[in-house]
Amino acid sequence: MSLTFTHLGTGSRGNATLVESGDAKVLIDQGFSGKQLETRLARMEINPTEIDAIVLTHHHGDHGGGASIAQRRWNIPIFCNDRTATALNLDLKGVQLFESLEALNFADDLALLPVPVPHSGADNVAFIASHRGERGAVITDLGSWTDELVTHVAGCQHISIEANYDHNRLWNGPYPRRLKDRIAGRGGHLSNDQTGQFLSQVVDKNTRSLVLTHLSEKNNAPHIAESSVLYHIDEMFEGDIQISLQDGPEFSHHIGQTESERVARRGLTLRG
Ligand SMILES: [Zn+2]
Ligand SMILES: [Zn+2]
Repeated sequence: MSLTFTHLGTGSRGNATLVESGDAKVLIDQGFSGKQLETRLARMEINPTEIDAIVLTHHHGDHGGGASIAQRRWNIPIFCNDRTATALNLDLKGVQLFESLEALNFADDLALLPVPVPHSGADNVAFIASHRGERGAVITDLGSWTDELVTHVAGCQHISIEANYDHNRLWNGPYPRRLKDRIAGRGGHLSNDQTGQFLSQVVDKNTRSLVLTHLSEKNNAPHIAESSVLYHIDEMFEGDIQISLQDGPEFSHHIGQTESERVARRGLTLRG
């Protein structure tokens, strides 16, 4: 058995990531319309009613904007912190509030640990998924990071993390100065270089896969994000790197597999 990470799409127009173990299916964020969520899950032959829970990183519309529709339409339980529930005006009957660093146990083979990250005007968290002793991280929307985050992400087999903007493209690009300052600030988003610097503190030979997410369509490009990040970790990273764009799902990553399971499953990797 293994734990599978599949981004249904990432970016400023919506985010959702499916984390799937043998016993549970949990969605991290629901920033899509009900129709979009249904369509994207259908590409994996999954019905929304099969989702056991939605956990939210923070309240921004591209992460939590589709939570209440999923709650109403399919009765999916929502897990989030107090600030996120309040900001999204969620019906608390279907909400389980969590505190940072309190593990959420969804099944014997899947727990998620929320770890706080700095992001302006939001109580944002990254999630560390645990599965039979192996771990994978999903980290998005942060302007900087803490030692605590480094501690929790170090040793993860899989890491999904935002690489939001290229520094030069942002500063030479069309955004007004105030918005540029906000994006690049401590509570904004990580640039490609910052993501590379963070990863250089946590990646080692055990890191099998990296996915760069939430790329700005105006201020970044996949080849720039990939080369900027690899520049920082080339020496220590021997795994696979992919980019998640706005329209997914495009691929899945597995942790906790034996070598033979990995080889057998490779042919099933989603494309397009
Ligand atoms: Zn976002
Ligand atoms: Zn955000």
